[in-house]
Amino acid sequence: PTVAAGTRTPLRRGAELAARASRVLPAGVSSDARRGLPEPVYVDHAAGAHLTDVDGNDYVDYVLGQGPMILGHSAPEVVEAVTRQVARGQAYAGQHPLEIEAAELVQAMVPGADLVRFNTVGSEAVIGAWRLARGLTGRQKILKFEGHYHGWLDAALWSLHPPVEAAGPREAPVAVAASGGQQASAAADLVLAPWNDLDAFTALLAAHRDEIAAVVMEPLLCNTGCIAPVPGFLEAVREQTSAAGALLVFDEVITGFRLARGGAQEWFGVVPDLAVYGKAIAGGLPVAAIAGRAEVMDQITAGTVGHAGTFNSNPIGMAATVATLGRLQRDGDELYPRLRTLGGRLMDGIRSAAADAGVPMLVDGPGPVFQTYLTSADAVRDYRDFAATDRAGMARLHAALLRRGVNIVPRGLWFLSAAHTDDDVDRTLEVVADILRDGE
Ligand code: PLP
Repeated sequence: PTVAAGTRTPLRRGAELAARASRVLPAGVSSDARRGLPEPVYVDHAAGAHLTDVDGNDYVDYVLGQGPMILGHSAPEVVEAVTRQVARGQAYAGQHPLEIEAAELVQAMVPGADLVRFNTVGSEAVIGAWRLARGLTGRQKILKFEGHYHGWLDAALWSLHPPVEAAGPREAPVAVAASGGQQASAAADLVLAPWNDLDAFTALLAAHRDEIAAVVMEPLLCNTGCIAPVPGFLEAVREQTSAAGALLVFDEVITGFRLARGGAQEWFGVVPDLAVYGKAIAGGLPVAAIAGRAEVMDQITAGTVGHAGTFNSNPIGMAATVATLGRLQRDGDELYPRLRTLGGRLMDGIRSAAADAGVPMLVDGPGPVFQTYLTSADAVRDYRDFAATDRAGMARLHAALLRRGVNIVPRGLWFLSAAHTDDDVDRTLEVVADILRDGE
């Protein structure tokens, strides 16, 4: 691999920390999403679009905490709001004004949000939404798309990136557990469908017509490449789901407040019955939410469906939510187009660098988030297409970028923030061009 000399100091402190971590943290990390990284990059601090590691190296950061840092790291309004609140109490488990303000912002920004309940992380909010769907319909099954990620809990962690030979036919995939030790009986409550295949969806819905409580999806698939719904797919799924007496649940943990103020619902113009938020909602603090139609949410009002959590609407998280959503609400007319323009420039630049270097690459996404795939295919439409791309090559490209000070999600996903600048994009494109031209 070619590493331009002098671009980075050796990761001495990082290596020491990695050795220490391996003696106390399984795999040396605290989430499996972080295991197996090619280099011991230990973050010292983060500001704007940049990370600085403990050895003093700077990185342009396109991971952004796996999506939350829509305003960039340590955005002044978030730091100020959190700092002010932390001195006024950390967990009340009582009502306070900020939770109303935060919920009002969600209600104002998200088309389908009549009512809102807060949680701490996306994984639990997903399960809460499924409970509401089961409560309303009296049915048990959830229709989930292969390759979509809905958190790490037992009921949801199925058929994320299964070995294709174990995953059944493309039109009717089987549920494959993503972890050992998962509650096996959960599979009986899932129906798996391929993404972007309306005929397959229609057939599966018909086959399980009176059993499906909810159809759940990442409306822009971001955990398996970055795959938009094909034209007409969301609209048809919306219509058929209602006709079948089931609820449509959008998992907007990544897309929420990132694609637009109203997330994927606004971006695609399709409104689900329920949506789940996390990540960008609080600009880096752990806050999640379930938001949806009054009739569905009012099961909580009536006390027929339970919803709880010690840290729900904790005042620090709510302060961060109000600061983040307040800024997005105020500046959205300028901020979202800028994310798309900057992301578009980066995507175009990567495409030309790949073309100049003769590297078969596909770059796809709306801009605020996008995916680079190593493939000569001209489209990636579902998990099986994604599985056929050169994922090992993408992992090598990720490692090469990291060595040159560009941090992306290892599978090839890139997030943009309001803090990225044209200079960041220029520097990134130089590095990408060098790597693609010279090989990793
Ligand atoms: N849903 C989607 C689409 C996600 O991307 C994630 C996390 O990456 C989750 C749910 C789970 O959220 P959390 O990691 O906060 O539990």
